Amino acid sequence: MPHRLSVVVQTPAHSAIAGPLTYGHTAALPPGSLVRVPLGTRETLGVVWDGTPEESTFEIRPLSAALDGLPPLNAAWRGLVQFAALYYQRAVGEVALAALPPQLRELGAAQLTRRLKRPSGAVDANAADTTHSVALSEEQICAIAEFESQKGPFLLFGSTGSGKTEVYLQLVQSLLARDPTAQALVMVPEINLTPQLEARFRERFEPRFGAAAVVSMHSGMTAPQRLKSWLAAHGGTARIVLGTRMAVFASMPRLKLIVVDEEHDPSYKQQEGARYSARDLAVYRSQLETRLSTDTEPCRVLLGSATPSLESWHHSRPAAEGGRYVRLAMPSRIGAGTLPKVRLVDMGLQQKKTVFSPQLLAAIQQRIARGEQSMVFLNRRGYAPVLACGSCEWKSECPHCSAYRVFHKIDRSLRCHHCGYAEPVPRACPTCGNPDIAPVGRGTERLEEHLAELLAPLRRPDGGPVVVARIDADSTKAKGALEAQLAEVHTGAVDVLVGTQMIAKGHDFRRITLVAAIQPDGALFSSDFRAPERLFALLMQAGGRAGRDAAQSAASEMWVQTEHPQHPLFAALRQHDYPAFAASQLEERRIAGMPPFSFQALVRAEARTQEAAQAFLTLASAAACDVPDVDRVTLYPAVPMGVQRVANIERAQMLVESPSRQALQRFLLAWQAVLRATRSQPEAKGLIRWAIDVDPLGI
Ligand code: ADP
Ligand code: ZN
Ligand code: ZN
Repeated sequence: MPHRLSVVVQTPAHSAIAGPLTYGHTAALPPGSLVRVPLGTRETLGVVWDGTPEESTFEIRPLSAALDGLPPLNAAWRGLVQFAALYYQRAVGEVALAALPPQLRELGAAQLTRRLKRPSGAVDANAADTTHSVALSEEQICAIAEFESQKGPFLLFGSTGSGKTEVYLQLVQSLLARDPTAQALVMVPEINLTPQLEARFRERFEPRFGAAAVVSMHSGMTAPQRLKSWLAAHGGTARIVLGTRMAVFASMPRLKLIVVDEEHDPSYKQQEGARYSARDLAVYRSQLETRLSTDTEPCRVLLGSATPSLESWHHSRPAAEGGRYVRLAMPSRIGAGTLPKVRLVDMGLQQKKTVFSPQLLAAIQQRIARGEQSMVFLNRRGYAPVLACGSCEWKSECPHCSAYRVFHKIDRSLRCHHCGYAEPVPRACPTCGNPDIAPVGRGTERLEEHLAELLAPLRRPDGGPVVVARIDADSTKAKGALEAQLAEVHTGAVDVLVGTQMIAKGHDFRRITLVAAIQPDGALFSSDFRAPERLFALLMQAGGRAGRDAAQSAASEMWVQTEHPQHPLFAALRQHDYPAFAASQLEERRIAGMPPFSFQALVRAEARTQEAAQAFLTLASAAACDVPDVDRVTLYPAVPMGVQRVANIERAQMLVESPSRQALQRFLLAWQAVLRATRSQPEAKGLIRWAIDVDPLGI
């Protein structure tokens, strides 16, 4: 075997063989080549990697096969994988193999060749040019012109209904028209929830570029479908890839445009394995693609949102103040008239345990009488519970941080997830002595039944009974259930739609004229410093659902029931003023030294006992004193996680923070070895696993 090759394979996290392995082959293969290799007693998929293989005293095993029917994965793809592995503290092989379609692992060279021979829907280059001639708005024209004249990255800050999707379509269209091989990647947070987007892209591009030109990539697809899409993108037949976060790793040899729609959405952060942010990787990828490109056309990236993440907003401040992104603004709604009027109901003035205030109920009844629809929206995301007093303003603040301490049911303690400060839950309110202290924003189960009961005496204009429908994770488990339920809403068969954040996203409901947030307060007082940002985004997005029809927009309303109507978040919401909200939040973050003014990582440990999980973290922290850059990071004490025990496994976490991203990165990289070594200490006996989450979304 005259040639030795470096090959990355899927290896378990933290195993000793984290780097590439060496194999022999009869011919040299370029980096990026897909191969099958023996690993122990199995045979597995691998990717030939860059760099010379390490000298080895072990016997070098030969490759089982080279999948030479496939072109190699290009340098930009490898660079992205390499960066993601390094940045998110995982093995290259793990990231590389997770980024490939699962079915590729199972296919032999011969099967693959057969798969590749299948015709994939001919492209009719001579099809009639059905270029859509939408008359673009002034703002759309400006945004597009600025995009075309600069390198970016870009943040498209556009109200709901301002025509952002149309801008994406236009940018893709002009790219594909001027460059006959260019490819575009369009990412959405949850493609299952946005079949409308896929339909819009297919409708626009299939007539011109053929049915094979648009492919999807998301976890709802079967393995054969995913392989088919992947091969089409890798081979260049697919000109447009629409996908969820996983699509950021799609192999697209001629990638020239990346769009990240709803860029603030938490779903862009992977929550297991390599915990990458697909949005952040998209920005990195565009720069890498541009740098490694063989032509002069840059690969541009556009992040779009009506309520950008504070990170992206901060990056898009004026260049003179240090901003790196170009902000494109589209403040006006197209054809949809004004944004809904915001009405705040002070729940402090209502009778205790009121779920629906009489005012809101009356407003919903009015809608029913007029044959319009309402949407009742529950913000039930699992916030770690914070305690509040029933009769005064006391909340379980941390005396040492600008954070709220979390109520831990198991040992009835209050713990700060930032600094670790803990105390038993007080018997009575420390401020006023009231014994009634309870978690903020208790759940409202069976809300829709309750509402249906309240509305039962009413009749629709056609004389039929009022229909209340619920859409949430439970009601949409079955395949196709969501689509069926949404279709019902669109036909007008439903009068009131009740649901979680799921219904607030992206759907174009024409007949909804009232949107109500029932219990948003849990997010105002949360241990998670990003909770207000998410609440604001959700409320703005939910409000954007109302009055999309111009004829109705004047009468459309957004109702918010809160015990804190004076909160600045609601003042900004009232004005639909995201910049004001962002400015106040960023100022708070700056003073408190929170992201984007600092950089964080969480180390999470799981063990048989809470002591072992914490001991592991504490030991690793103590042993960090010689690690490079330790003087530029702060290691906080280990604390139990918000959800402390899952399936009898105890979980603890530790926050690592630094004002410098580079310092944090260097520290984490060197600290990995310490963590690995700590695992074998007697105090850490019972530790099951640990992992690092860089740029965590919640602490
Ligand atoms: P966003 O993505 O910002 O919420 P969309 O792109 O979905 O907005 O646009 C909202 C609605 O306005 C859609 O029904 C879309 O077809 C329509 N629309 C967008 N741009 C235009 C335009 N230039 N002229 C007329 N209608 C438009
Ligand atoms: Zn009190
Ligand atoms: Zn604290």
